[in-house]
Amino acid sequence: MAQKGKVITFRNVKEVPPVPVSLADTLYNKTGGWRYLRPVYEDKRAPCTFNCPSGEDIPVYLGLIAQGRFLEAWEVIRFENPFPAVTGRVCPHPCESECNRNYYGGAISIHRLERFVADIVEEKAPKVTSKPEGPKIAVIGSGPAGLSCAYHLARKGYRVTVFEALPEPGGLMRYGIPNYRLPKEVLMREIAFIEALGVEIRTGMKLGGNLSWGELRDYAAIFLAVGFSKNRGLEVPGENSEGVISALEFLKTLNLEGPGALKALAGKKVAVIGGGNSAMDAARSALRLGADVTIYYRRTREEMPAIPAEIEEAEEEGIRMEFLTAPVEIISSNGRASGVRFIKMRLGEPDSSGRPRPVPIPGSEYTVDVDYVIPAIGQEADLSFLDGIEELRVERGRIKTEPSTLAGPRIFAGGDIATGFGTVTHAIGSGKRAALAIDRFLRGEALEGFPPLEKNVYAVLRPVSETVVRFEDLNLAYYRWEEPLPPKLIPIEKRRTSFEEVNLGLDVDEAIKEAKRCFACGTCVMCDNCLTFCPDRAISRKGDEAFGYEIDYDYCKGCGVCVSECPRNALSLKEEFGFMKGETQ
Ligand SMILES: Cc1cc2nc3c(=O)[nH]c(=O)nc-3n(C[C@H](O)[C@H](O)[C@H](O)COP(=O)(O)OP(=O)(O)OC[C@H]3O[C@@H](n4cnc5c(N)ncnc54)[C@H](O)[C@@H]3O)c2cc1C
Ligand code: SF4
Ligand code: SF4
Repeated sequence: MAQKGKVITFRNVKEVPPVPVSLADTLYNKTGGWRYLRPVYEDKRAPCTFNCPSGEDIPVYLGLIAQGRFLEAWEVIRFENPFPAVTGRVCPHPCESECNRNYYGGAISIHRLERFVADIVEEKAPKVTSKPEGPKIAVIGSGPAGLSCAYHLARKGYRVTVFEALPEPGGLMRYGIPNYRLPKEVLMREIAFIEALGVEIRTGMKLGGNLSWGELRDYAAIFLAVGFSKNRGLEVPGENSEGVISALEFLKTLNLEGPGALKALAGKKVAVIGGGNSAMDAARSALRLGADVTIYYRRTREEMPAIPAEIEEAEEEGIRMEFLTAPVEIISSNGRASGVRFIKMRLGEPDSSGRPRPVPIPGSEYTVDVDYVIPAIGQEADLSFLDGIEELRVERGRIKTEPSTLAGPRIFAGGDIATGFGTVTHAIGSGKRAALAIDRFLRGEALEGFPPLEKNVYAVLRPVSETVVRFEDLNLAYYRWEEPLPPKLIPIEKRRTSFEEVNLGLDVDEAIKEAKRCFACGTCVMCDNCLTFCPDRAISRKGDEAFGYEIDYDYCKGCGVCVSECPRNALSLKEEFGFMKGETQ
């Protein structure tokens, strides 16, 4: 035997000592008998999917986009999320912050691919129509939570009526988010797909107003998805002056009545107070109406809760931002706002949100002249519709649900009003969770043990293990460093002066190129690497039609080469002992 580390060199073939050579193949030799580790095909959870609150099966639809199979990709998304064109535009895409590609060129532009596939398919896709005949369900509120719940229930055959207080459906997607980020026709297109499934939407119907609880008596279940429809007040003197208009009211007027209804802002000085999405939307909208806009925020840029791209885009468009400052009084003359008195702040210890608490600096007050003030410091629930309803509990301004979506006898709640998560994708996931819970409830199944709020639920779950694939689990020999495509925006002058959509979508070639960068973490794509590298020829394809592989354990000796060669960690090595105890995987 060669000594460890010693290199033996044969100068010609004659120096090679005799070696045994097999004249047959190795199939006579059932090496599997020696095995103590067994490779198994096991798709795992990709981190992007794990972090998508709508629960989309991202590696599967990216794989379909990469092959140009757009309709199928769209259908895969819509198993979970009926609003891909919306989330593809406005979602803060937590999927991307966890994408394993971040460590090798940059995250996959999942939201842009989601938008691409929705735009390309929905223009032409025939609407699937249905006439459900199951039990009647009432949904209150037509935001993303209400409509997602209605969609999933209709797909299960329930007759759903959505009651909406405002004249148009869509919730904050319709009257909060401005056109330059989410064109109304895109939203209405996706709502039309939901209506085609037999969902009835009755607008101008307010529970606690012209719709009474008594009128909901005949419904087998009720889903409350009324969102946060009230702006939080500044709680400073003068805030009721003329010229002070809450961000939500301002955006609602703009989105429901059009820019003409707010033309008085042209050429005026506007102070927007806040650092979240509604502050950015109000400021950028006021700018487009011709106003001179400044945002005032009490912490620093780093703590702003708005989506980072929104802050950048607002700055690019010329919106000034002043940090570490808070209003103490709205100054008015003849009942009309004419200025704001601010006080400078410094950052102190973290508060309950984990962010540093802004602390006023005594004696640092200063005054700014303004024509309009738009407070945008957050929204809260209008719970007046609960007057006289004692079964439902309210905690910290939200409807308490226990377990996870059940709020009271046959009453469920979801979206912002129950979770307070404050994004469209969370509301979509929450609506789906409620639909699945309502279906269980009406089939007489227990709701105990239904996945807790922190976990996503999936309407269609392909068999995947709970393990989330990490970057270290991938085999990088099969991938190249590749960067994502840069964003494409309309020219800055157009952005400042019109409500035209700012972000342009991907074209077909760009979408396919971007989708091909995906590692398909944890998802077998039948690349044949395992089969090619198996030294025992123990792996074979299941057949021409079937998906997947078979391992002949008579010959597999558990060396693990297939597992380590798999680029995407779709195989695992498991201890043989477990199988002896009767485990199947
Ligand atoms: C200005 C702004 C911009 C935003 N931008 C983004 C963004 O870019 N990305 C993102 O992910 N999230 C964003 N959000 C947050 C997001 O819009 C919400 O988290 C989401 O819409 C919540 O969905 P929901 O279905 O729970 O409620 P909502 O969308 O608020 O819908 C609730 C619906 O219920 C109706 N309603 C209320 N009371 C009654 C009643 N008594 N009877 C009948 N109907 C009633 C309301 O009129 C409304 O239509 C933004 C929010 C705001 C305010
Ligand atoms: S909904 Fe949001 S988190 Fe989910 S895939 Fe789309 S962009 Fe990502
Ligand atoms: S590389 Fe693909 S599958 Fe992996 S996390 Fe990113 S998008 Fe998801």
